[in-house]
Amino acid sequence: MDDCIFCKIIKGEIPSEKVYEDDEILAFKDINPAAPIHILVIPKKHISTLMEINDEDMHLMGKIMKTIQKIAKEQNVAESGFRLIANCGPDSGQEVMHIHFHLLAGRKMGPKIIS
Ligand code: AMP
Ligand code: ZN
Repeated sequence: MDDCIFCKIIKGEIPSEKVYEDDEILAFKDINPAAPIHILVIPKKHISTLMEINDEDMHLMGKIMKTIQKIAKEQNVAESGFRLIANCGPDSGQEVMHIHFHLLAGRKMGPKIIS
């Protein structure tokens, strides 16, 4: 997707602070962190929202969840815990239309959904 900011990050056209990368998945630090650890985990395949996930993406989605486990261990928050958020559609406030999972950690999460 030419005008997608996360596709540009994947292609290296926009810089990012990468924490994990393989042939199908990229994880990088959120530019506007809401917690001491705020990492975005994305598929390299452009999928705009959760509602666009197809049957053929099942393996990829599973792989993303395994990657989140790996990152949580590497960031030393597997035991202390973390919050995983995926916004979908207008009411969620999704700003970037390339599916992404927010991994938030490093502090006690409040009762509010994101902060
Ligand atoms: P959402 O509101 O769920 O679409 O979240 C989009 C997230 O992308 C926000 O938390 C932004 O801070 C983050 N973001 C936007 N542009 C960049 C960028 N160039 N590098 C890292 N994170 C970004
Ligand atoms: Zn994209």
